[in-house]
Formats: sequence, C-alpha cells, structure tokens
Amino acid sequence: MTIDQGTARAELGVIGGSGLYALLDEVTEVRVDTPYGPPSDALFVGEVAGRRVAFLPRHGRGHGLPPHRINYRANLWALHSLGVRQVLGPCAVGGLREEYGPGTLLVPDQFVDRTAGRVQTYYDGQPLPDGSVPGVVHVPMADPYCPAGRRAVLEAARESAWEPVDGGALVVIEGPRFSTRAESRWFTANGWSAVGMTGHPEAVLARELGLCYTSSALVTDHDAGVEAGDGVTHAEVLEVFAGNVGRLRTVLFKALERLPAERDCVCSHALDGVATGLPGVGEGLPGVAAG
Ligand SMILES: [Zn+2]
Repeated sequence: MTIDQGTARAELGVIGGSGLYALLDEVTEVRVDTPYGPPSDALFVGEVAGRRVAFLPRHGRGHGLPPHRINYRANLWALHSLGVRQVLGPCAVGGLREEYGPGTLLVPDQFVDRTAGRVQTYYDGQPLPDGSVPGVVHVPMADPYCPAGRRAVLEAARESAWEPVDGGALVVIEGPRFSTRAESRWFTANGWSAVGMTGHPEAVLARELGLCYTSSALVTDHDAGVEAGDGVTHAEVLEVFAGNVGRLRTVLFKALERLPAERDCVCSHALDGVATGLPGVGEGLPGVAAG
C-alpha cells in the first residue's frame, strides 16, 4: 500500500540498504515531500516489537543514487516529519586495520569528515518555501553518536554472537572512488578505524534536528593501504555485504527493541533553549512544541 504522508507516524528510523525493510510482514509505503526536495525514496513504515519504525533506502530502492548525490537533508527531514526521533544508520565501510577484516562490525564513536562540497547543514540562512528562516545554530558535535543508541547496537550484536568493535573513528570520504593507498595509509597512521562514504553529513544533520543517530559500520573489505592485492572493487564490497546482511538485519532489529522509549541523551538536549527558526524543530517557532 502506498499513501501520502498524511497521518503516517513512526518513532524509530533506519537509513540503510533496501534489504532491510523486506523482513517486515507489513509495510506502508509513505511518500514524503520536504522543503529540501524529495528524499531518496518513499519511507517504508512498519512495526518492530510493537514500535513504529520507518525505513529509508539511503540510495533509493534501485541503488541509483551514489553517496555524493544523496539528498541527506531531505532524508533526515522526512524521518523527523513522521515523528522519528531515534535513527540507526548502518553502512558498508573499508577496514583500516589488519584486524578489521571483512565481516567485522564496528560501532564508531567518532567520525572524520573528508567529504567536499556536500550540503551539511539546515542552518544556512536560506529561507524555506514556507517563509521560515533558520537561525544561526552551532550544534555540539564532540560526541557525534547517541550513547543510548550505541549501547543498544553493541548489546544487540553481542546477543547475536557477533562481537562488535566498540568505538573508533569512521573517516567519511567524498567518493564515489575508493581511496588511494597513500590516503588509506594516512588514515591508518592517524589512528582511524574505517572508511566510508555516507556517514557524513548524516550524523550532523540528525543532531541539527535533535535526533539520536547511531552508526553501525559493516566492514566489507580491507582498504587499499592494508590489503596486498589490486585494491578494493565494488563487486567484492557487494558480495561481502550480501553475505552479512542477514545478521546485520537481526542486530538492527534487536537494537530497535532496545532503544529507550524516553530519551535523555546529549542528542535529545542538543536544541534545548535554541530558537532554530525551523518549523517543528527544537524551540523553532512560537507555539511549536519541542521535538
Ligand atoms: Zn540520543
């Protein structure tokens, strides 16, 4: 069934591959428009453990959108507008250490932005179509991921007998090309753990809307600096991802069950007392309840 946004609601969100919503028995496909244009696809709203969950295929259902062309603002806005306040963002990454081989599940606690030219803020001074104007807002980003969400994913992975790597820095590159060996070795020399293409600005935009965001990074290959062969290929990445998507889905579903019903984390307070100027966001407009 496909509907326009209307009264569709969800409290939890997952931005990930299109294999994820297929597990739900019943989904309603919800088309959402945003002031920033359309999101990557319709949102697939269903239920996990009695809670309403919205899935958004990050690259669109046909995987037609490369990382640098994704409308990240529209994606996060669409989830927020359905009522989603906690988001899990699984992604495929390259391992930057010998011990992080294919099949490793990393739950990073930091990211490093090496992207270029991506729109990465809602607070850019540009008026929205409804005439509202975003304020000048600087959100804290020292700890970019939700502590409660990270706990939920880590516990869910351990419960699934998939020992995760707890913490580490995810380098986000512009893509769509993979890293050179020199870039990759430099990332490793800096002590960073994995490299991907979608983690930024997803985490930042979530924080700017007061959403909880948790990254869970599935290592699909050794990045160029730590592997001895001809370098990473897209086919290898897809093959390893396909081989792990089942257990990743299990972990995500267990994590969704564990996400707290009431939030009291750094993300939930990021916009306390902030006049965002954005409708429905934080203390955005007079008379609009805090998200
Ligand atoms: Zn949080």
